[in-house]
Amino acid sequence: MRASMRPLRLLRFFALLQLAACASIPVPVPGQFAAHVAMPKGLPELAPCVLIGERTNRPLLFGMSTLSFATWHQVIAAIVIRHPKGVIVIDAPFSKATARDLGREPLSFRLAFGDARTKKATAPLLAAAGIEPRSVTWALITHAHWDHTGGLRELPFAQVLLSEREVEWTRSMPEASPILMLWNLQGAASRIAPFKFDGGPYEGFAESHDVLGDGSIVAVPLPGHTPGSTGYFVNSGTGRRWLFAGDASWTMEGIRRPALKNPLLRAIVDEDEEATARTLGLLHALSKDRPDIVIVPSHDLDGMVGIPPCAARASANGTAETPKG
Ligand SMILES: [Zn+2]
Repeated sequence: MRASMRPLRLLRFFALLQLAACASIPVPVPGQFAAHVAMPKGLPELAPCVLIGERTNRPLLFGMSTLSFATWHQVIAAIVIRHPKGVIVIDAPFSKATARDLGREPLSFRLAFGDARTKKATAPLLAAAGIEPRSVTWALITHAHWDHTGGLRELPFAQVLLSEREVEWTRSMPEASPILMLWNLQGAASRIAPFKFDGGPYEGFAESHDVLGDGSIVAVPLPGHTPGSTGYFVNSGTGRRWLFAGDASWTMEGIRRPALKNPLLRAIVDEDEEATARTLGLLHALSKDRPDIVIVPSHDLDGMVGIPPCAARASANGTAETPKG
């Protein structure tokens, strides 16, 4: 009995520590929300699917500023969109080199993020879903952290799109930044195409960038977690819309309340806590004002309801579609 109580006591201790560390950073929520953006005519029908690289159940208080022990279904995942112009992935978490990558990091990092045994490389997951990794045309990166870029080396022909601010920030960072594992981006250096937010206000965000020029994929800045963190709106011709929001919040519940990340962890992972709070306020306001737009944080399976696991598409004769290489 005593032994079984111990983990609970530990969790309670952690919760009290969290409460004590709860610096009161306000989340400013805009009262007046921006005019809605009219969707362009003739958008392609898009149906994002998800490849889960790792799934871990944790108490919610690990993911956000709360004392709740409800389960956070944490995932590390890639989103795939079969667009008529090419195959898109949003983030590429792991590769077969992830074990070696983790081996280069301090023990504390491995204790926090686990080892490679539970992590699935993005490229084989793509192949299992009938998508040849060499056929991926664009990798849209929400931010440069290791769990969003580790699979880029195995997508050899993907142009890697991320905001210019993020690229500049990574250049200012020391080579040995465990959370960045900069060699992921360096290994794809010739394929990196940084973009500017050149498109004006968009759905409450001050700036935007129309990624493919057809209004189907629109990037918006979500600064704070990292300076150049980016969210990607995906607008389907069916009328369905999503905003893939990276790590601005780790949990859906964090956007709903709104509540920042766990205060002990955010002090480590969020570059600018006040900017993160402003971004979270915008996401919260968007979730209230626009229930038609599904906001998807990178690391919460509960935010991916309605986004199916990627699977091979059956062709007319019932066999799996031959991937184009
Ligand atoms: Zn992440």
